Amino acid sequence: GLLDVGQNDTDALQEDATAGAGALAGPITTRFPPEPNGYLHLGHAKAVSFNFAVARAFEKGGGRCHMRLDDTNPTKEDEEYVQSILEDVRWIQQGLPAFDTNDGEGNQSGEDVGPWYGKVRKTSDYFDLIYDAAVYLIESGDAFVDELSAEEMREYRGTLTEPGRESPHRNRSVEENLRLFEEMKNGDHEDGKYVLRAKIDMTSPNLNMRDPVLYRIKHESHQATGDAWCLYPMYDYSHPIADAVEGITHSLCTLEFEDHRPLYDWVAERIVKAGLVPTQPRQIEFSRLNLKYTVLSKRKLIQLVEDAHVSGWDDPRMPTISGLRRRGFPPSAIRLFCERMGISKTDSNIDFGILEDCAREKLDEGSPRAFAILDPLKVTITNWAGSTVEDFEVPRHPKRDEMGVRTVPFGKSLYIERSDFFDLDGPEGQRNGGKSPKGFKRLLPDGKVRLKYAYVISCDEVVRDPTTSEPVELKCTVYPETRAGVTPDGEARVKGIVQWVEASTATRCKVMQYDRLFKAEEPGKESDNFLDDINADSLKVIDGVVVEPSVAMDALGMMAKIRSRDSDAGDMLCHSDLTYQFERSGYFALDSSSSVDEFIFNRVVTLRDTWAA
Ligand code: ATP
Ligand code: MG
Ligand code: MG
Repeated sequence: GLLDVGQNDTDALQEDATAGAGALAGPITTRFPPEPNGYLHLGHAKAVSFNFAVARAFEKGGGRCHMRLDDTNPTKEDEEYVQSILEDVRWIQQGLPAFDTNDGEGNQSGEDVGPWYGKVRKTSDYFDLIYDAAVYLIESGDAFVDELSAEEMREYRGTLTEPGRESPHRNRSVEENLRLFEEMKNGDHEDGKYVLRAKIDMTSPNLNMRDPVLYRIKHESHQATGDAWCLYPMYDYSHPIADAVEGITHSLCTLEFEDHRPLYDWVAERIVKAGLVPTQPRQIEFSRLNLKYTVLSKRKLIQLVEDAHVSGWDDPRMPTISGLRRRGFPPSAIRLFCERMGISKTDSNIDFGILEDCAREKLDEGSPRAFAILDPLKVTITNWAGSTVEDFEVPRHPKRDEMGVRTVPFGKSLYIERSDFFDLDGPEGQRNGGKSPKGFKRLLPDGKVRLKYAYVISCDEVVRDPTTSEPVELKCTVYPETRAGVTPDGEARVKGIVQWVEASTATRCKVMQYDRLFKAEEPGKESDNFLDDINADSLKVIDGVVVEPSVAMDALGMMAKIRSRDSDAGDMLCHSDLTYQFERSGYFALDSSSSVDEFIFNRVVTLRDTWAA
């Protein structure tokens, strides 16, 4: 599991957690605390998986994981993001057991139901307490109201090699600080006029400890609290308070917060001492997930959406949870990926191929097989009786009988994949020096091939386009005695086996093939702007793909289910739950923009790794 990998550091973390279990009053409690200022991405999935896994590992002792929206900056936050975040976390954790909430803390309102423990929490739920804690810090001489401009403050702050200087306003009386802070709260001052700062140490080697800002004025409506507040707490100040209020024992965050830990502890110690919260939480850092050939930063992802480089947050090329879901990555594949990545204290840049391998593993297990022809070449069986169609019952999954059978019709008019015929006598053969490609075992003019599950056919005649001379149709003979895999005595076994689709029962659909979204391993590293590294050819739309009837039937069934689903019941059904292995082509999932008139399939992954460059 997630806790077993990553070795040394994980062991330390486990020990840590166990030590915590003895030392702390409450059960092991973690939280996933995204800011609702964008959609979740794969990096967040790692944090979700880790926080939930730690809590589940200690479930016997009452372990739990909270869902908290860290909504302290109204400027970039939005209700749309809140909803998408909750949906994505539910989806990632789909199918896993929920925490037992039979202690009166369980949520009443249906909308909050999720895999997390109890109700959805928001840092803004604690705005009163966070404010009271600030008043306490002022009273105890640990905070003061400053009025340096942002620029002055930067200058006073010093650098890594130079100590900072104390603000001239640092020694205001407690009374004056209280009065000004109250005025800030009451809206008497405009944005930027005053800030509340902690009084710590302007000579600290840690810049975060040089009288950090705790509160700033922002006359802005908040998506949860409306106009109740015009001053908002900073992350470093509000986070330890929210953690402490909720009884979080292990506040897991990414490594860039390591230098913030002394400030986290500084705040936490003081509010515990004030009696505002019972126990002191601890911050523990782990490495960020970085993925090659993409970006994992909400700010950059927002830019891709806003500048229309992609079709939206759920564009199947996006590394967002909604993009991966729409593309057809199952949640189990994302969890497997997070487990394989493990937890460590070393940042790494991971290959997207690892996620694809996880997807192949899960999709192979869970997806029925079907025949689809992406680039159809017409085949006419000259010795087949008219419009007769013969049905073959074949397994939906080669290793899983419980998935049942599908019916694949065979008839006079068929399609095979253009690349499964090598036109030795035509322009293609000439381009290849009059030879067929080395090791080519499929259909050649005058050659034979087996149509999987059905018959061996031979190619008698190639009908060509009069202008280009490229083949447009093959006239073939079928051998009835080769039905369903039989090789008649004395005959050589036909080596090539290909997929096919019968024309009169086929459905036409569209396939979207994706490549990496960026050309550079680390977008923006060499070029100055990550947008310069966008891969202009990351989407290939293939029209006129033909699929066997079982696919059309399943797709219609899925769309009907989605139309009639009970979304109030937290039903997570989505189009991309319908996945296939289109034999010899890859794994594909139904796209959410499909309609009864047009089925669209996204290629999730190819059958084999094609990324190794
Ligand atoms: P971004 O830089 O994309 O905006 P963030 O860290 O600011 O990400 P938050 O909403 O604060 O986004 O993240 C919620 C949680 O997810 C945090 O605990 C954070 O540490 C974790 N997280 C975010 N990005 C990653 C990542 N790439 N790898 C691992 N954990 C991450
Ligand atoms: Mg953040
Ligand atoms: Mg951020």
